[in-house]
Amino acid sequence: MDVVVVGAGIAGLSCARALAEGGARVRVVERGRVVGGRLASKRYDDRYADIGAAYLVADDPGFAAQVASWQERGLARPWTDTLRVYPGGGPSSGPVRWAAPGGLRSLAADLAEGLDVRLSAPVDAVPEDADAVVLAMPGPQALRLNPPPGIAAAAKAQTWHPVIAAVLTYPSRQWGELRGAFVNEHPVLATVCDDGDRRGDGAPVLVAHSTGELAARHLDDPGAAGPILAGAVGELLRLSEIPTVRVHRWTFAQPDPVDAAYAVDSRVWLCGDAFGRPRVQTAWLSGRAVAHALLSRH
Ligand SMILES: Cc1cc2nc3c(=O)[nH]c(=O)nc-3n(C[C@H](O)[C@H](O)[C@H](O)COP(=O)(O)OP(=O)(O)OC[C@H]3O[C@@H](n4cnc5c(N)ncnc54)[C@H](O)[C@@H]3O)c2cc1C
Repeated sequence: MDVVVVGAGIAGLSCARALAEGGARVRVVERGRVVGGRLASKRYDDRYADIGAAYLVADDPGFAAQVASWQERGLARPWTDTLRVYPGGGPSSGPVRWAAPGGLRSLAADLAEGLDVRLSAPVDAVPEDADAVVLAMPGPQALRLNPPPGIAAAAKAQTWHPVIAAVLTYPSRQWGELRGAFVNEHPVLATVCDDGDRRGDGAPVLVAHSTGELAARHLDDPGAAGPILAGAVGELLRLSEIPTVRVHRWTFAQPDPVDAAYAVDSRVWLCGDAFGRPRVQTAWLSGRAVAHALLSRH
């Protein structure tokens, strides 16, 4: 069986790995210059900052085994089970959040190891030259490839919200034991995480994620959201130093959950984090579910 997986995010890579392990011939095509999609780490000032997913949660046994394998090889480490919640700033305990010393994208790079992955290879139509095609991406991106009706309908049923991420590099660490915070009822700020703490290098770097509302207002000019987010973080944490600000726009950042593991129409499949609670684990599971369904069908 020949399979083309379009998209080298965590869903596409987990799908391709499981297919390859099951004996299929798999080619992954990715429009970006690197793998990972929204599991993204970008290099600023000689270090990586996580600009997409902030951390992993692993409460599915299969994904927990994957995370354990990353931990054994030093790629992932438990970061914290306690984040702050604003207003108030009190601690909130939850599941263990996992981080990656080399940046979360290194986990996607690990999944891609040994697979046939073609980078800087944008696809503009569903490939014809394969027994099956897996579109491992947000529905609105899949729609651009003119997929068959069942996939188009599933893609159109997804609702997405944008986020602007701001990487804030300060002269020094002024915020003590922060780790990370959920910011509720705020007009512009949704979360802020201590990137130096989660990466483990102690760099004076915070990463803020905007609300969908702020991102929607600044999709054409994301740079203008940077000072707004820096101001909001400074006020929240009472910081006096002025950071260097870099922003990244995620047009399709967070979907509203859909109640299925994937969508399929004849030889075309759609998977990704919209199929469940929107997070890395869901994307990984959705990709694997497609691979297992394909292997049992063929
Ligand atoms: C700001 C932000 C914060 C987040 N925080 C967390 C968190 O703390 N914890 C958590 O678990 N999750 C978090 N998430 C969600 C998590 O990042 C996603 O659930 C997961 O990475 C989605 O993986 P995916 O493979 O489904 O999609 P993506 O990562 O979007 O992968 C899709 C891939 O397809 C490629 N592609 C698209 N169109 C084409 C084309 N035409 N041709 C070729 N390639 C194409 C894209 O370039 C991309 O690489 C966050 C996401 C964002 C944006």
